[in-house]
This record gives sequence, structure tokens and C-alpha cells, in this order.
Amino acid sequence: MRAAVLRGVDRPFEIEEVAVGELRPDEVLVRVVASGMCHTDLILRNPARASEFTPIIAGHEGAGVVEEVGSTVTRVSPGDHVLLSFDSCGWCRACLTGAPAYCEEFNARNMFGVRADGTAAITDGDGATVRNRWFGQSSFAERAVATERNLVVVAPDLPLELLGPLGCGLQTGAGSVFNEMKLAPGQSIAVFGAGAVGLAAVMAAKIAGAGEIVVVDLHLSRLKLAQELGATRVVPGDADDVLEQVKGDTDGVDFSFDTTAVTGVIATAISALRQGGKAVLVGAGSGRIDISPLLLVGRTVTFVLEGGAVPQVLLPQLVRYWREGVFPFEKLVRTYPLSEINQAEADSLSGATIKPILVMS
Ligand SMILES: [Zn+2]
Ligand SMILES: [Zn+2]
Repeated sequence: MRAAVLRGVDRPFEIEEVAVGELRPDEVLVRVVASGMCHTDLILRNPARASEFTPIIAGHEGAGVVEEVGSTVTRVSPGDHVLLSFDSCGWCRACLTGAPAYCEEFNARNMFGVRADGTAAITDGDGATVRNRWFGQSSFAERAVATERNLVVVAPDLPLELLGPLGCGLQTGAGSVFNEMKLAPGQSIAVFGAGAVGLAAVMAAKIAGAGEIVVVDLHLSRLKLAQELGATRVVPGDADDVLEQVKGDTDGVDFSFDTTAVTGVIATAISALRQGGKAVLVGAGSGRIDISPLLLVGRTVTFVLEGGAVPQVLLPQLVRYWREGVFPFEKLVRTYPLSEINQAEADSLSGATIKPILVMS
């Protein structure tokens, strides 16, 4: 099969012929139809990680059709249409209490591109191993090996070439609003960064009945799109008085949501809260936050993975909202053939495309 292999920090993705090894009893082979590209895929270009983790197949917003299942798999069958999300063990305390995003094996199963036991199942043209379990899937390829825990079965009439991003970016934004904030009708939210994750939060906040949805971003085109999707007020990120503009004539917002990972922006997001408010952070950078402890009086700050979601619960809900027309994420998407993956990456980094989707054939 063809796959986009990353062989080094500063190398382009290369389309290669690779071979998938034998399935283990708990594994599922999925024919990938399309896969979103998420900013987390690009952390593989971080020099601190890449040399250790390449060669690897990235991609963790896959959508496709089950082709083959291992002998102990019972929840999916060949022919099922599925979305791929992050993997989890199913048996740790977090998994058993409905919080698989905080699975004790989250890193082992998702962040290194290998199975939890450290092995991988793909070989390149020279017979060398290529890491193929990035977020339990490695979906920038024509086939992905997953487990039934990171598959979500969807109706066969849905467009698989569109739905992949539900498995990470959109789940992170919408799940943060529904699961972590539990935003109630009339409450206010400020969203920092109008990329796919931020705009998913905007759509979710509108669905939840937010009274005010303030969006901050550097790109005017994104602020315009944010208004189309439900923002009631927008603030240019380079304004001198972002904090004052976000608060407006209130004593602060109920919730703030940072997707930027920029520490100065995170400090503003916390400062914009009313007492009793909650800041949800999802962007991971290398900087440190410098704030006065007094700023935290009565306020809560939390860093959330994958929107705190159970994919098998949240993704079908998001699909229903999309069918109803209230979660129109197709407005964020541009599709590219797999062979144009390097262009998709460039457009994602420049901001020209909010959410690239790679289509396999
Ligand atoms: Zn677990
Ligand atoms: Zn992601």
C-alpha cells in the first residue's frame, strides 16, 4: 500500500510503497478513505522528537472501512464504516471511569507510533520497520492498523472523505465545551485562536446556548468565519487592549478556551475570567505561564486532552449535529490528494487552510 512516510525533522513527507504485517488478535485493518491533518501531527517535526521517532507514518484523524479483524475483535466487522480516534487500554482507572483521554497508557498507545509493547507492523521497501501506530492508527496511508477501542462505527451513507477530523481536532474543541465546561444556556465564553479546534468550540458553544461567544484571532478572515459560525463578538489578536475588549462591559467571561499554546495568550485567557470562571487549555507549547496566584482566586484552570471525550459517545453526537446543520465543519475543510501532503502541511502552517483533509485515492 501507499503511505506518506516521515523520515526526518526537516524532510518532506515521502509517498512510499510499504507492507502491512500480520494482524494481532485484537487488531483491525482499516482501508483509509481520508484523513484530516492536525497540528499535533506536526510536532513530529520537533527536533527533540523526530530523530527518535522516525521513520513514522503520521495522521490521526482517519475515516475508512473495516477490511479485516483479528480473532478476538467483536465490536466491529469487515465492511463497517468507521472513524478513527485516539487509543486507550480500557482497563485502567481512567478508562473504567469514562475518561479514556487520561488513560494510563495514553502516551504509550498514541504518542510514539508503536504498539504499547513497543513494536510496529509496517515495513518499507528495504524491509526496515516504519512506525505505524501514531494515535493508534497512522492514517496518512491507504491502510491503518487500529483496535476496536479507537474505532467509532458510523452510518454507511455518511461522507467518509469529510468526517475524519471529528476524531481529534473537532472532538477536542466541542468536547471541551460539552464535557469540561458543561456550558449552560446564557453563559459566556472567550475562544483564543480560531483554528479548527477553536471554531469547533464556537459551534458547540452556540449549540449549548451560550449568551456571548467572543473570538480572538490574528487573521481577519478567520474572525469573519467565526462570526458566521456563531461568534457574537470578535477581537483582533494584535489589538493593544485584547483583555479589555474580551471582557467588554462585564466583569469577565464564564469560560475561556485557549488553543494557541502562546503563554502570553494563556495569561490573557485566565485574566479574562470572572471569579468562579474556568479556563480550559488545549494547546501544548514549551513555554511557561507567569501569573500571580491572586489571579486564580475563585477561578479554575485545566489542561484537557481530546476534549475529555469518549469517542464512541461524542462522535455520533457530533455527526447528528452535522446532519442537522448546526455543526457545519465542512466550512473549515479543504481536501488534497495524499500525493499533495506537503502542500497541505504548508497551507496548514501558513494559515491558508484551516483543516486539510488528505484523500487516499
Ligand atoms: Zn486506560
Ligand atoms: Zn490531533
